[in-house]
Formats: sequence, structure tokens, C-alpha cells
Amino acid sequence: MATVSSNTMKAIIKQTPEPGGLIIADVPMPKIGVKDVLVKIKKTAICGTDIHIYNWDEWAQRTIKTPQIIGHEFVGEVVEAGEGVTNIKPGNLVSGEGHLVCGVCRHCITGNLHLCRQTVGIGVNIDGVFSEYISIPASNAWVCNPAVSEDVLSVQDPLGNAVHTALSFNLIGEDVLITGAGPIGLMSVPIVKRAGARHIVVTDINPKRLEMAKDLGATATVDVTKQNISDAIKFLNMNEGFDVGLEMSGSPAAFNDMINAMANGGKIAILGIISNSTQVDWDKIIFNSLTLKGIYGREMYSTWYKMSMLLQSGLDKEVAKIITHSFPFQDFQEAFEIMKSGESGKVILDWV
Ligand code: NAD
Ligand code: ZN
Repeated sequence: MATVSSNTMKAIIKQTPEPGGLIIADVPMPKIGVKDVLVKIKKTAICGTDIHIYNWDEWAQRTIKTPQIIGHEFVGEVVEAGEGVTNIKPGNLVSGEGHLVCGVCRHCITGNLHLCRQTVGIGVNIDGVFSEYISIPASNAWVCNPAVSEDVLSVQDPLGNAVHTALSFNLIGEDVLITGAGPIGLMSVPIVKRAGARHIVVTDINPKRLEMAKDLGATATVDVTKQNISDAIKFLNMNEGFDVGLEMSGSPAAFNDMINAMANGGKIAILGIISNSTQVDWDKIIFNSLTLKGIYGREMYSTWYKMSMLLQSGLDKEVAKIITHSFPFQDFQEAFEIMKSGESGKVILDWV
């Protein structure tokens, strides 16, 4: 079992409010409260959100207060537990929910923690997990099955996004359109397949990612720079368009493609962060009786439970295919550049 022997630790910090601006620095070891656990980080993964912070786009400028430790996808070992912690012990392998909630509001007390209005994001609103140790509330730590690989356990946050979005609507026998074959869109493919969908059509503008989608079980893929979704609809002999849509690109064009390709009465779950100025054909939404559902994060903790069971029943092998790169944390610059290029699936930073 790991032990703590120093007062400082290494962390990746967004030091200055500008593109890039990431450094490795020595920072004080985090302190734990009575209901917290101290976790020695083993692996972390880079999320699209971290790339927004790296690029210092408009969202990051408005949201992030520098200097701040970034990152929220992790797996590690508990090395210390506060006196009030009963369910988690030193030695446990844990990942964690990156949304901290108030615990007392109307939604929290009725078991809908993902709807809490006081939600605070680790690595966004407060210091993150790209560091050798973190302190998190024990209630946010999720004990993992060590039979699943640590790389896969470190990407449960985005996998949870995929599980939450994909399982928003009943999929058995349905035709499903996924716009965007980024890591989360790709993770959704095997989940949708397991949930019993008939056809799974995936769109992107990146041929490599579409190839990965095919390998993970997509029935057809559409490179929207060359083809239309209607070609896939014809090719698959579908009559009326898609029953369920999972928007996972954040692209206004993709969202419009989806609205145009839905069957009447179709249901859309939107995970991709689409800009506020996006125009849509409201006639299609209203007169075709579409249902739109926004998705934020993971349901606490039913998504985590379902995800763990799926990982233990073979989903881990498929998720492992989406992890394409791994670097020691000291090489974070290279890791961020590869993630930024779009020439990757998930990229892992190793802290051990
Ligand atoms: P990503 O940016 O890696 O993937 C997006 C994919 O969409 C890319 O492969 C890109 O090539 C593709 N794309 C771009 N234009 C397209 C078009 N016109 N048609 C089809 N595909 C197109 O992102 P990710 O990490 O997989 O996350 C997916 C989305 O979900 C992102 O928008 C991300 O910001 C968002 N997100 C939301 C939440 C939430 O809680 N709502 C959580 C995590 C991520
Ligand atoms: Zn709350």
C-alpha cells in the first residue's frame, strides 16, 4: 500500500491566462477533512474540457481562474481516509465523480444529484486531479474493480457521459444516429449495441475516427465532408429516419443534420456543447414532434453503477480500443498536442 512521505507534490497547472500556459509545479499536499479521502493518482486522462482550457477559448476565459490545477478524469489508490469515512479504506482503487453537489437541495435529497444547481466541477471551478495526490469527498469516490485495467478505469468520467446519454431513451430495435465520433461518441457505439439497437449510424469529418466507429460495431458511418446521412438511410433500407439521436459533436451543422434525419416522434439526447447562437429548423422539431433532452455529466450514482457492471461484462475491451496514447505526466505537452490534433482517441497521463 502506498504511503505519503512529502509535504509537496507535482501538479499540472494552468499558470497564465493565455493559450498553452501549462506548467508542472511543486504545490502543497492537499489536506483531507473528516469525510474526505486522500488518493494517490495512478492514471489521468485528458478530456476535451482540458483542451478548451489549454487553448484558452472564450469558455475557458470566462470560467477558469488561474493559477489552477486542471484535470478531472482519474484512477488512483486511497492512502488515507478521514475519521468520518466508513465505506472506503486505504488500499481501495478509486475513480471519482468530478461534480461536487450540495447534498441538501430539492434534487439532491430526492436522489437526482446530477440536477443540483450548486454543482462545482473539479478541475474547472476548483483544483483538479492532474497531480500526484488529490483530496475528494468520500461520497464522490467510486470504488473500482481491480480486474478492469487502470487505463480504462481512468476514463470512466467520459464513459459515464456516454452511458448517461446512450441510455436516456429505450434503444431496443431502434435505429440510432450518433453525430460525432470523438472519444465519447465512440464509447457510445458498443453501449448502444448492447442496449439492442438495430442500426447504429455514426457521422464525423475525421475518417480515422469513423474507422474506429466501424470497428466498434457501427452499422454504417458517414463522412459528412463527402456523403449525406440520407445516403446511409437509403443504404440501410430505412423508411422513416432515426428513432433516437445522440448528439456528441458540439457542431451546429451536425445538430442540424440530426434534426433533418429523425423520424417523426424521434428522441434526441444532446451531450455536445453547441454554441448558443446555433440556428435550428424549429418547424422540424415542433411539427415532427421531436423530443430533445440536454445531458450534463452522469446520473449520481446510477450511471456509475451501470457503467461498472458493463465494464465487468466485456465493455472494458471495447473501451480499451478507444485509448490510443499514454505518456508519463512529465510529457504532458506532447500529450495535449496529440489530443488537440484530433489524431487520437483518449490520451492517458501516467503518474506512477
Ligand atoms: P470531441 O471534440 O473529441 O469530439 C467531437 C467529434 O465531432 C470530433 O471527432 C469531430 O471531428 C466531430 N465533428 C466535428 N464536426 C462534425 C460534423 N459536422 N458532423 C459530425 N461530427 C463532427 O469531443 P468528446 O470528448 O468526444 O465530447 C463530445 C462532445 O460532448 C463535445 O462537444 C464535448 O464538449 C461535450 N461534452 C459534454 C459534456 C456534458 O456534460 N454535457 C461532458 C463531456 C463532454
Ligand atoms: Zn444539491
